[in-house]
Amino acid sequence: MEEEFSAAKGTGFSPYIGAAHSKGALAPEGIHASPAPRARVHDMKEYHPPLGSRDGLRLDFNENTLACSPKVREVLGQISAGALTRYPEREPVEAIVAAHLGLRAEQVALTNGVDEAIHVLFEAFLDAGDELLLSVPTYTMYEVYASATDARAVAVQAADDLCFPFERLLEAITPRTKVVAIANPNSPSGSVAARAQLLALAARAPHAVLLVDEAYFHFYGETVMDLVGVVPNLLVARTFSKAYGLAGLRLGLLAGPAELMRWVRRVLSPYSVNALALACLPPALEDTAYLDWYVGEVLAARAEFEAALDAAGVRRWPSRANFVLVDIGARHAQFVRLMRAAGVLVRDRSSDPGCDGRIRITIGTREQMKHAVDVLDRTMAALRAGSETQ
Ligand code: PMP
Repeated sequence: MEEEFSAAKGTGFSPYIGAAHSKGALAPEGIHASPAPRARVHDMKEYHPPLGSRDGLRLDFNENTLACSPKVREVLGQISAGALTRYPEREPVEAIVAAHLGLRAEQVALTNGVDEAIHVLFEAFLDAGDELLLSVPTYTMYEVYASATDARAVAVQAADDLCFPFERLLEAITPRTKVVAIANPNSPSGSVAARAQLLALAARAPHAVLLVDEAYFHFYGETVMDLVGVVPNLLVARTFSKAYGLAGLRLGLLAGPAELMRWVRRVLSPYSVNALALACLPPALEDTAYLDWYVGEVLAARAEFEAALDAAGVRRWPSRANFVLVDIGARHAQFVRLMRAAGVLVRDRSSDPGCDGRIRITIGTREQMKHAVDVLDRTMAALRAGSETQ
């Protein structure tokens, strides 16, 4: 292979120029076939979250709406050019995170956001004929990554109250169930699964991996992280994209028994968590004062915002996370448009299963949410008046 490459180099051959020039010569006349992807990929739709033009108050992606810890900013400012020339070494930082979580290093893998954790977990465990069990509505990427595997996603629809459909999930477990993915708290509903329910699911499906995705853990406070290594089929994911305010760095983690984590590590790139993210993780973990302050601010703002929704007569679902799902009804798209025009971005979840007319609103600081309430009140008044002008 090496020989072939140097020979090509010697002749000044470029595969790109060569391909362009030889197109007519290589393709049989009249045939312009392009390489086909795997059948499952062919049938997938590209997932495009609405990330464009996000100037304004960002209440649309459940991010931290303010900033990360100043200690993280400080470390970022000190990164040297030399540090950037080196491939990132994840192991020492994995050891720090593991110690922080009370786990052993081999029980924790850092990932390029929880999204990568989900992706590699499904790659490692979901084969043709297997089933991924979900309750819906839930986090979109479970279905996206499942649809790239040869497994089948089995979705249990939550009732109108959007409570965790525990009994029906238990009943939906089959010998083919290979992964059960539960976001706890769940998005977009904000509802939670009780610890006893998660334990019961793990026990009912010992042949499956139970993924408990604790992306919103800091706003909820309850966890099953302490059961990692105790419950043999439990994996827990956490993100630095929400409370820590590092969504742009792409940093998440997956924790589980070493026996399961070794399969995950086989498909995980050793370089997928970049050097900046690795450098920022220790100060992010250390600055508990900042994290506590931000979480406290969001929880206080959530209570005030929920009270304002109730006063405005807007139906909402109880939430244990940094967002609230509200029912706007038939004029949901207009609602989102009017809010955006007034500088407040919110997320239409109407295309989620059982969520027609529902909008998810991220909770920021108290000051930000006071402004959001003003804009929401004006928007609701405009909708009720049947006009798009405010
Ligand atoms: N899990 C859930 C439940 C989420 O809502 C999100 C983000 N919206 C993620 C995982 C993805 O997190 P990350 O940014 O770490 O990929």
